[in-house]
Amino acid sequence: MSRKALIAANWKMFKTPAEAKAFVDAFLPLVAGHARDEIALFPSPVLLPTVVEAARGSNVAVGAQNIHFAEEGAYTGETSIGQLKAIGGTHTLIGHSERRQYFAETDEIVNQKLHTALKHGVVPIVCIGEVLAEREAGKTADVLKTQVIGAFAGITAEMAAPIVIAYEPVWAIGTGKTATPEMAVDAHRIIRAEVAKLLGAQVGANMRILYGGSVKADNATALIGQEEIDGALVGGASLKPDSFAAIVKY
Ligand code: PEP
Repeated sequence: MSRKALIAANWKMFKTPAEAKAFVDAFLPLVAGHARDEIALFPSPVLLPTVVEAARGSNVAVGAQNIHFAEEGAYTGETSIGQLKAIGGTHTLIGHSERRQYFAETDEIVNQKLHTALKHGVVPIVCIGEVLAEREAGKTADVLKTQVIGAFAGITAEMAAPIVIAYEPVWAIGTGKTATPEMAVDAHRIIRAEVAKLLGAQVGANMRILYGGSVKADNATALIGQEEIDGALVGGASLKPDSFAAIVKY
């Protein structure tokens, strides 16, 4: 089974437009011709036009960190899927743990956003993962299954091909603590089995599942090199072109 890896940069609320452009200008030569993996950048909404323009014609895709589930409307401060597409964005994160934690995103909201992204042909990266207390209480498998079931409500096997899942143990995000490859592989197997149960063995086998949580150049090979791990969602270490390029070339 060959699933093309996706290496994604979540810039969170960092960079000005000038800094974003400088990143892309420095980064593209470092990954020119790199076809083994897909590469995508996820900047803040205000940076999207700059980054799309700077990356145009390259092997680097650009997406949003979040979209609203409604197609348009009175949702102050939000970004619609149509707005993302109109400026050339092709991907979106959905349900990042920081969205769940600070902006009260539930599995139900994640599910609505997933339907919106699929309807409009935008590649969704659905983020799931347990918090430390859940892992310590032995609840990781239950949490992951619940999040997959919630996110995938109403999703059929025919709709599922573009979906990417990012397994991001919340205790490993921005903390410098990384899941061991064994922990990540175990979690990915649980997630893949749940997807297969919901949508069939073929969909389960084909779905890309990324790992996220303090991925850096020096641990990328051990993690992404695992058969079960189909790429990475990278926060802190994606902010500098050389460090993110080193991860891309794990
Ligand atoms: C993230 O933001 O999704 C993330 C994994 O961050 P970090 O790599 O900094 O842990």
